[in-house]
Amino acid sequence: MSIAEVGDDVYGEDPSVNRLQEIAAEKLGKEAGLFVPSGTVGNLIAVLSYCARGDECIMGNLGHTFLFEAGGISALGGVHPHTLPNQEDGTLLLDEIHAAIRPENDHFPHSRLVILENTHNRCGGVPISGAYTQQVAEIAHENGLYLHLDGARIFNAAVALNVPVRSLTDHTDSVTFCLSKGLCAPAGSVICSSREFIRKARRIRKQLGGGMRQAGILAATGLVALDKMIDRLGEDHQRAKSLACGLAQIPGILVDKKSPTSNMVFLSLDKDFGLSAKIVAAKIAQLGVLVGEIGERQFRLVTHYWIDDQAVGTCVAAFRAVLSV
Ligand SMILES: *Cc1c(COP(=O)(O)O)cnc(C)c1O
Repeated sequence: MSIAEVGDDVYGEDPSVNRLQEIAAEKLGKEAGLFVPSGTVGNLIAVLSYCARGDECIMGNLGHTFLFEAGGISALGGVHPHTLPNQEDGTLLLDEIHAAIRPENDHFPHSRLVILENTHNRCGGVPISGAYTQQVAEIAHENGLYLHLDGARIFNAAVALNVPVRSLTDHTDSVTFCLSKGLCAPAGSVICSSREFIRKARRIRKQLGGGMRQAGILAATGLVALDKMIDRLGEDHQRAKSLACGLAQIPGILVDKKSPTSNMVFLSLDKDFGLSAKIVAAKIAQLGVLVGEIGERQFRLVTHYWIDDQAVGTCVAAFRAVLSV
């Protein structure tokens, strides 16, 4: 990776970036790809490519774009989020999507885009089926809207469902996925879509300051990610299961019933347990294990390449030690 061939990607002349974009697009069944610094800016670029100021974008109330992207689509694009309740399985109800699409009327914003997320992070890392994605795409397209997929962890979804990744992306107009996170690259995401869309997205990436020059070093880590890191994601899912199993046996811990469906374990402290998640996390940190708390009594644990079987055991033991005092 450190000796990757590089060129100036702002001029489209970095061979490693170009190769990464081609391979990513090919894997997802799209015409073209665009390397971007993060998943957040990937989603932002996609939304700004579809929507003008005042246009409306339909998305889940637990979606990453709504919850965790600092309101970028509103702040930078003047795009109006129309949120619908995410169901426990990460989906939006089809009837509610239908009902959310605005008719033509001077009082209403123009509905332009639907965003889905797969796997759905806040709903437990749950994978969403290709059949459902197709149904949403049909509703969007029949009404002149587009469908963008926030596929930050789309390869985890494909592995969890044991289907080709293309079956989850085929019906979408665009997809972003992360080379970081489970795929282990230090940084970077790719937006994949039609050639025409990517031309537009490339201009918006430049506007946002996301055009990078000799980015081939980073792109090379993305090439390794796509080549070596997808087929092993099942190990992370297996370890998430072991972790959930181990933790469920500790009195005072409730593992989310449907968890894990991919590489995330959601758990909470029993309501009678006297300490908050924050305090438990601090005590566990003293035992050398860092865990993420996501609420007064809730944790989210994510398995990845550097969490091996021994680390799973260490984590369970640390929870057990802290909860048994
Ligand atoms: C992490 C994540 C993103 C954004 O990725 P960054 O690279 O951290 O900006 C987008 N969507 C989902 C579902 C994510 O989990």
